[in-house]
Amino acid sequence: MHSLNVSHFYAGEEQQSLSSKRFESVNPASGTKYAMVEYGTDDDVSAAVENAHSTFVSGIWSKRPPAERAQALRKLAADIELRINFLAMMEMRDCGKPMVNARRDVMRASSLVSYFSSLPEQALGSVYADDPGYHSYSTREPYGVVASILPWNLPFLFAVWKSIPALALGNSVVLKPSEETPVTAIEFAKLCLLAGIPAGVVNVVQGDGVTGEVLVQHPLVKKITFTGSTAVGRKILSSTAGQVKGAHLELGGKTANIVFNDADIDAAVDGALFSSFWNTGQICTSGTRLLLQQEIAPAFLSKLEQRLKKTVTVGDPARAETQVGPLVSKRQYDKVREYIDLGVSEGATLKFGGDAPVIAGCESGYFLNPTLFTDVTSDMRIAQEEIFGPITCVLTFKTEQDAVDIANDTEFGLAATIWTSDLARSRRLSENLNAGILWTNCINRIRWNIPYEGHGLSGMGEDLGTECIRTFTKLKTNQVNVSGVTNVAFPVAM
Ligand code: NAD
Repeated sequence: MHSLNVSHFYAGEEQQSLSSKRFESVNPASGTKYAMVEYGTDDDVSAAVENAHSTFVSGIWSKRPPAERAQALRKLAADIELRINFLAMMEMRDCGKPMVNARRDVMRASSLVSYFSSLPEQALGSVYADDPGYHSYSTREPYGVVASILPWNLPFLFAVWKSIPALALGNSVVLKPSEETPVTAIEFAKLCLLAGIPAGVVNVVQGDGVTGEVLVQHPLVKKITFTGSTAVGRKILSSTAGQVKGAHLELGGKTANIVFNDADIDAAVDGALFSSFWNTGQICTSGTRLLLQQEIAPAFLSKLEQRLKKTVTVGDPARAETQVGPLVSKRQYDKVREYIDLGVSEGATLKFGGDAPVIAGCESGYFLNPTLFTDVTSDMRIAQEEIFGPITCVLTFKTEQDAVDIANDTEFGLAATIWTSDLARSRRLSENLNAGILWTNCINRIRWNIPYEGHGLSGMGEDLGTECIRTFTKLKTNQVNVSGVTNVAFPVAM
């Protein structure tokens, strides 16, 4: 029996699909269907986008005084925090996140809104040095309707992350959550309304990749912000090329987590465990390639295995002690299992994991034990392709240059981590590693005021910090002749 109906949201209300198409959503911990979701066809997308566009043009939000926009965002941050348990519970059911993890995501979403609540009141634009008699300045304007296409790994946090900076700067948004995790984006849209963000500014259309494709191609959508796979990012770029539409893309990764002989080994072991298996390895910056300097590799791996057994609990996401829940879907579970078989057939050694635990009460859920492959070489597919599950590949290196060569032997360029006590080495590596985000003696650390950008196949466009202003506004300059003399005649020969 389905207990939950999940709608679209536009014009300030939950909306049924204009066709009668719907799809089912599954709880990954139990493998049971628990929600029916409206499916977004062309007509639903058009209705939501047109509503978002007319709201934008009305100026009710886009031209609202900055202090009032800031005030609504501050209320939204507080409202999210007040509902932490409710939102975390929904998130747990929708994508299998352990409660500890889901609560953390909701708190982070609230802190993100809080940080960006100051954005509407930031100075936008500049005044330029110019010739006497000229006053030249730039302004930055919101694009209009921003399409925000979401992945399934952090559904609520990404609904917030992929819309708040755009909203703070005056845009309207149409969110398209992943078909795997449709539930919490609607809750976000309702909370925006409650906080005083007018109807029509934050909208949600449910559906799959076909719905997403219709949305990004809609002519009234003026900017796209997408987090998801490199394959879909490429499709978005090519399908919107005819409209020369800007796209901010945050795509896949294959993070190198590099540990040198001189590192604090205990800290690096904790970092490797957290980065590999947090969120069941379904994080774009997961340290899925663990690069160990040869001398420390055996001791490091034995510590890692011991600590995994002692401290990491795989289980029912509803239980307080669970840190690793199921994968998001049967499709993802099957994909990850295929990579485990592939690793074995490529000649890597399955050091631990690779099997599925049986969890009482969750026998049909999509659980996998944390898995580690050793004897991996960089040419193996398991070392090259993004798996997006609890699998880490260990590669060893002799010298700093070897580490750089292995780390850079990928077309992705999202993140890399360096564990060393030599900060001069950190500085050298930061010049030589092809990645947009580097961490030294820390890992998977995201702060809202610190910007980032993926390199290579990991994306394009600046996110977070005040750098996101460039992503969600367009530049306009005006050179004003204030001299009272007009001289625009053809230049004469000198
Ligand atoms: P996905 O690319 O399969 O889907 C993402 C979204 O795109 C979904 O909402 C989907 O319905 C939609 N979509 C699919 N085809 C589309 C099309 N042709 N046009 C428009 N929209 C379309 O990704 P996923 O499996 O949901 O998420 C996992 C991926 O996300 C991984 O590759 C991961 O690395 C990436 N990710 C990246 C970051 C980052 O910040 N770089 C963060 C989280 C996740």
